[in-house]
Amino acid sequence: MKLDFDSIIIGAGVSGMTSAIYLKRAGINFLLLEQNYPGGQLNRADKVKNYPGIVEIDGPSLVMNMVNQLNELDININYEQVIDIEDKIEYKIVHTNKKDYTTKTVLLTTGRIPRELGLENEKSLIGKGISWCASCDGNFYKEKSVAVVGGGNTAIGDATYLSNICKKVYVINRTDHFRADAGILDKAKEKDNICFITNRIVTKLNIQDEKLSSIELDNGEIIELSGLFEAIGSIPNINYLKSISLVTDNNYIIVDKDLKTSVDGIYASGDAIKKDLYQIVTATGEGALAANSIINYLN
Ligand SMILES: Cc1cc2nc3c(=O)[nH]c(=O)nc-3n(C[C@H](O)[C@H](O)[C@H](O)COP(=O)(O)OP(=O)(O)OC[C@H]3O[C@@H](n4cnc5c(N)ncnc54)[C@H](O)[C@@H]3O)c2cc1C
Repeated sequence: MKLDFDSIIIGAGVSGMTSAIYLKRAGINFLLLEQNYPGGQLNRADKVKNYPGIVEIDGPSLVMNMVNQLNELDININYEQVIDIEDKIEYKIVHTNKKDYTTKTVLLTTGRIPRELGLENEKSLIGKGISWCASCDGNFYKEKSVAVVGGGNTAIGDATYLSNICKKVYVINRTDHFRADAGILDKAKEKDNICFITNRIVTKLNIQDEKLSSIELDNGEIIELSGLFEAIGSIPNINYLKSISLVTDNNYIIVDKDLKTSVDGIYASGDAIKKDLYQIVTATGEGALAANSIINYLN
């Protein structure tokens, strides 16, 4: 049976884009699928200072560099959302919201998505007050009051970023311990317009004119604001895998040293896999290794 592709990469984050470069250079017939836009989570990074060879760069610019590299190599990204994968042993069928494709191998590089607070109205307020990306949406709240939920590096970094744009920034943390690095926290504490609220959780989102107008905390306090930025961690993005059951741990895909999953012919890399370090450098490194394993498997 003639298959459409030798390999399909699902997700054009940094891991998927790296794999695409390696597969292309090895002459493999592959397809790169992306549901939104390339770069995934990296688009949310304000400043990247730990990627070797680049002293400092904002996330979207680093993504653009990678996209330019794909263009140089004539690698296309097909903008389709994968909704399921079927394992036919000898080959796989990748179902997207537009088409079905047959392929010998699949690489899952679908990364992570931000954790939600799980509150009523949260989903309907996305783009109308609720955001997970300060560097993307901060400017919509110029001179307004906003809050950031969380206590890690992303939350505190976002609060500092927003303090330069917004009138007031509340940081709401469920404990009085901040996981953020001391340097990042100290910088935020120097800002006059950041107000830290500890040992509190957000319990209610109030709406006026179809937009977020205020939030309520677990002590009944109501804070009037226009934007709420959620930075309470991430969860692996594998909910499209309905017809195959991979071995996972807390929804993170388990892979071996060759980035092979528990299903023959299916590989995974980047933030969707179980590992110790969730960074660009590891996601790109695994992307290259997974591509190499796929090349060996096909040969
Ligand atoms: C705010 C923030 C700041 C960060 N700062 C740094 C930093 O300074 N240094 C550092 O090293 N790391 C940083 N990171 C971490 C780094 O961005 C990630 O580790 C890395 O981008 C993970 O890449 P990935 O390709 O594995 O996954 P992702 O970036 O999550 O990409 C996955 C891609 O898959 C796509 N996708 C998902 N599901 C489907 C589907 N069903 N069909 C088609 N496509 C799909 C998504 O749309 C996405 O484009 C930061 C992360 C965040 C959120």
